Formats: sequence, structure tokens, C-alpha cells
Amino acid sequence: EPVSQLVDAVSHYQEGAAAVSRIAAVERLSTEPPARQSGVLPGQGAAVAGPASVRFEDVSFRYRPGLPYIHRQVSFEVPGAGMTAFVGPSGAGKSTVFALIERFYEAGGGRVMVDGKDVQEWSLSELRSAIGYVEQDAPVLAGTLRENLVFAAPRATDDEIRDVLARTKLDTLVERLPHGLDTPVGHRGSQLSGGERQRIAIARALLRRPRLLLLDEATSQLDAVNELALRDVVAEVARETTVLVVAHRLSTVTGADRIIVMDTGRVRAVGTHEELVAQDRLYAQLAATQLLTPTR
Ligand code: ATP
Repeated sequence: EPVSQLVDAVSHYQEGAAAVSRIAAVERLSTEPPARQSGVLPGQGAAVAGPASVRFEDVSFRYRPGLPYIHRQVSFEVPGAGMTAFVGPSGAGKSTVFALIERFYEAGGGRVMVDGKDVQEWSLSELRSAIGYVEQDAPVLAGTLRENLVFAAPRATDDEIRDVLARTKLDTLVERLPHGLDTPVGHRGSQLSGGERQRIAIARALLRRPRLLLLDEATSQLDAVNELALRDVVAEVARETTVLVVAHRLSTVTGADRIIVMDTGRVRAVGTHEELVAQDRLYAQLAATQLLTPTR
């Protein structure tokens, strides 16, 4: 029995040692691919304050050689601040716009510009710190609400947290919770509604004071109260931050400053809700099936 335990211990030790050396190897990897042009040093990014502008110039992209193109000469321009929504059928390439802005992938042709500068020329850490990204069904982790909010902004003060909670209309939720901000929100946020989870993810992103907020709207249905809250929160944030939304429900974007309609990897139309209803057949069809009543 003791010999068998010793053999087991040695084998566990060897597995553990191999895992530790793999972790150490990963930790040594550089997380910062070099900027394409030499001479770009940290701190030398573009403007450091205010809402960021975004421009796609004839962008072509496919995820891997041999796969079909997801973007074919996509061009559009988003000036600083305001809300811009991307709509279109599933697979049109809307979320891929965000992946290219964040530089998760590199465009095969054309240029992706943030603040008039090719994202490939930004230092990755500066680019990412300018951007708040709220993914579809963003995770809420086991732990308290406060922990969920501040893990990406550990130095956030209580005043900043209160301000962001008010802006994301979560202050009433906090009042309702038995221990306020220090209430555990359950495994993966199971005690929260889908709309509350998405607003917590927005609040978390806002605590990092992004100049550009990318919001990939959750596909899950929201009840009317949460849908209205999300729409108001986005409109409020867009007053001083550039907000891009991949919209799965037209009802949340009818008030956008500009709507970009994508279809099979191309931009087919750009305009306001009213302009597009009048001018673009695909958008008019989406509006007819999704919107029961015209909204603002
Ligand atoms: P949805 O409204 O369904 O979210 P979308 O317009 O946002 O769709 P994208 O997510 O940009 O579309 O995807 C465009 C196409 O690229 C889809 O056909 C998708 O399957 C494919 N795709 C997305 N991510 C990858 C990836 N990492 N590797 C290969 N193909 C991908």
C-alpha cells in the first residue's frame, strides 16, 4: 500500500511539474504583436481623450485562406460620439467588424482606422484600452456585484461605481439586493435577468472609461422594461462616447444616429431608420417583420 501511494505521488508530481512548465512557457509569450510601422512607442498613440472615430476603407477579410470572404470592400465612416448600429441577416459580417477593430484579426485588404490611424499602427495595449467591448451574452461571474463590476478596473472608486450604476440604470437593482453591491449574484449571474446581465457588462466596460464602446447585442429576447432600459442606456452613453452596436433587434436601434445595413459581406445602405425604411428594401422588410409600431 505505501509503495503504491508513493508511485501515485511521483506520478502526480510529474504531471504537476509538466503543467507548471507549460504555464510558465505561456506566461513568457509576448502579448503584444509589433505595430506594423516601426517607431510607434507606448504613449504615442493618437488623441488620448474624447470619443474615437472609426473608418473602414475598402476592407476585405476572410478568416482563413480557402474560406469565403466575410467582408468584400467594406467602407464606412463613423465620426466621434453618437450611436451607430449594424444590422443585417445572420452571417452578414456584423460581429466581424468588431473583431477587426479590436485587432483580433488583420484585414486582408484595405484599412481599418481608429482616430484616423490604421489599427495595425496602434500599440495593441493602447488600442484595447481605448475600447470597451461588450460581447453577446457577456459573462457575469460567481461573486458579488461589486467584484463583477471592478475586476477590469480595480482602482474604481465608490463614486465612480455609483455614477456608472446610475448611467446603466442598475441603481434600482442595487437597492433591491439584500446586501447592495456586496450581494453575491450567483453562479454566472443566474439570479439576474438577461437585460441586467448585459447592463452589468456595459457598466463594467464603462468603468474603464472607453472612448469607443462596441456592443454586440444579446440575441436573447428582453422583456419590454429591459429593452427600453438598454435603449436609454446606449443613448446616454453615446452622448460622450462613440458607440457601435451590432443589433439583433431593430427596436433597440431605431433612434441610432446612423444605421449601417450589411448583407453578405457588403455595406448595402447607410442612413437613419426613417431614411432606410424609405430607401432600402432589405431594411424595410426587416422593419416590417420586427417592428409592430414605428418608434422614435
Ligand atoms: P449574427 O447576426 O448571426 O451574429 P454576423 O452578421 O454578426 O451574424 P459574423 O459573426 O461577423 O456575422 O460572421 C460572419 C461569418 O463568418 C459567418 O458565416 C460565421 O460563421 C463566420 N465566422 C465567424 N467567426 C469565424 C471564425 N473565427 N472562423 C471562421 N469563420 C468565422
